[in-house]
Amino acid sequence: LYILAIETSCDETSVAIVENGTIIKANIVSSQIETHERFGGVVPELASRKHVESITWIIEEALEKSGVAPSELSAIAVTQGPGLIGALLVGVVAAKALAYALELPLIAVHHIAGHIYANQLVHELQYPLVSLVVSGGHTELVYIESEGNFKIIGQTRDDAAGEAYDKVARALKLPYPGGPYIDRLAQEAGEALALPRAWLESDSYDFSFSGLKSAVLSALNQANMKGQPLDPGSVAKGFQASVVEVLVEKALRAVKAYGAKQLLLAGGVAANQGLRQQLAVRCAEANVPLLTPPLGLCTDNAAMIGAAAYLKFQRGQFSSLDFKAEPLLSLEEWSV
Ligand code: ATP
Ligand code: MG
Ligand code: FE
Repeated sequence: LYILAIETSCDETSVAIVENGTIIKANIVSSQIETHERFGGVVPELASRKHVESITWIIEEALEKSGVAPSELSAIAVTQGPGLIGALLVGVVAAKALAYALELPLIAVHHIAGHIYANQLVHELQYPLVSLVVSGGHTELVYIESEGNFKIIGQTRDDAAGEAYDKVARALKLPYPGGPYIDRLAQEAGEALALPRAWLESDSYDFSFSGLKSAVLSALNQANMKGQPLDPGSVAKGFQASVVEVLVEKALRAVKAYGAKQLLLAGGVAANQGLRQQLAVRCAEANVPLLTPPLGLCTDNAAMIGAAAYLKFQRGQFSSLDFKAEPLLSLEEWSV
């Protein structure tokens, strides 16, 4: 059973063909990084235009590469939200046109459910589980009692982890998006700059990264004013240590409190080597099975949308041709 899935929520145009929600037949990802790089962030209007230019040939390429004929497809899936409205609309319109022309059911997918279920493309999931979602726009601990039932037990009160990475990278004059550059600097650095950790209330699963970001910016400014600039490596290492420690400790506390059988890592920041290493160490100590997506499935891609779409397909939960893109779509409400 093949689902053709489309993802255009931000600055990647991607189309995948996924078999039974678990096997990738094709997963074409066209990144717009070069378009947005010189602006230091995603420019929404440019993102939409790029999606329009690319979507048709990427659909064709995905079909070609998969060896699956349009007549063999069982459904069309697309990211409904959250994301940039103009970017989402391109994928949604393309998906509706395909579904109408091929007379196939449509499945509207939550982008973060996609990030979480990227794990289903490589792992066997066991419920209940807890997922640590760390991406460009989200930082959440999600309790998933059974397949497709999402409960957010903690989230960021200000910046998302990826957003904090990108802002600190910008202050260090690193290219956009800066997460991977900070990650690399942190791995290579010797000394780490001492920085605070935002634990919040002792029983809270929420996160906060804006205080840490401010601490980095003011340390950089003060050092510059003294004419003794900080070593970027020590800043990257200190920043990463603070982010990772809080993420890992709260995730493990949630796993224990909710009796989770597995901890799933998800989202673009799941590609972070420091986070993956620290989670692996702490999960091994605590005897918690840790599932991480392969690097290529951490950042935005359509295969993960095809994986999540399968949950709805199995339950016959389809969307009508007039469903709307939702920039602020709720994960909990998307539950099956
Ligand atoms: P969302 O999924 O919340 O809508 P998004 O789709 O824009 O946001 P993703 O594609 O999931 O975000 O992730 C992109 C983010 O991941 C960027 O902020 C980027 O810097 C960060 N990132 C990617 N690789 C790494 C890494 N190795 N270390 C830290 N951050 C990383
Ligand atoms: Mg992106
Ligand atoms: Fe994403």
